[in-house]
Amino acid sequence: MSDKILEIENLTVSFDGFKALNNLNFSMDTGELRVIIGPNGAGKTTFLDIITGKTKPTEGQVRFKGRNLRSYSEHQIAQMGIGRKFQTPRVYLNLSPRENLEIACNPHKGVFPTLFKRPPSAERRTIAGLLETIGLIHKADMKANLLSHGEKQWLEIGMLVAQSPDLLLVDEPVAGLTDEETERTGELLLSLAESHSIIVIEHDMEFVRQIARQVTVLHQGSVLCEGTIDEVQSDPQVIEVYLGQ
Ligand code: ADP
Repeated sequence: MSDKILEIENLTVSFDGFKALNNLNFSMDTGELRVIIGPNGAGKTTFLDIITGKTKPTEGQVRFKGRNLRSYSEHQIAQMGIGRKFQTPRVYLNLSPRENLEIACNPHKGVFPTLFKRPPSAERRTIAGLLETIGLIHKADMKANLLSHGEKQWLEIGMLVAQSPDLLLVDEPVAGLTDEETERTGELLLSLAESHSIIVIEHDMEFVRQIARQVTVLHQGSVLCEGTIDEVQSDPQVIEVYLGQ
């Protein structure tokens, strides 16, 4: 069994002849937290769309835990253990964080059957643990529409984790957050990284510095460079790309 959770080889994605990803190679180890940066249009969203199966490669291969994802649907890939957090939180606003997490723990049951039955004690413990992890135990039973934007982001991250993914994909988790919320989001992702593999797409370089051990820079659909935040920030090619924006 490979210790690589994700291996991408010679990946090209064309939209009407335009290569959004162009012969991209990428791999990450199981348990790694990787941050992807790159200017607008670099291909970051397409990269996540490929991993989740929303978009299929024109050429090349994507392997998750050693399995080639080409022949699997988006739904099957999610079930294999890939969870994606979009930029805007998608929580049930008229339900509480606890109820949202109950629903997330029972993805196949439906909202009403889940909420009308008291969860088994093991699930209640899991949910209490998740509420603790995401810092919302004190707001567990208030309506989610009363939460701040940051708290909704953490709840949605908790909902993803409730489904026990091996790989978490997190798209710009701190856009629009206060400095304090940004820092707490970093702490949350670092604590989740102790037991998950995580890819984060982010623009906020101070936040990247807080969480990143390894950074991949995308540019024009390919990997421009990889390294620590200090290494990529001092790379002449990266400086040129960002100054040219
Ligand atoms: P990023 O997330 O880094 O800003 P994207 O992955 O969204 O970059 O886009 C990469 C390039 O591919 C952009 O030039 C974008 O316009 C183009 N692109 C993305 N999706 C499509 C699509 N469905 N059809 C045509 N072009 C697309």
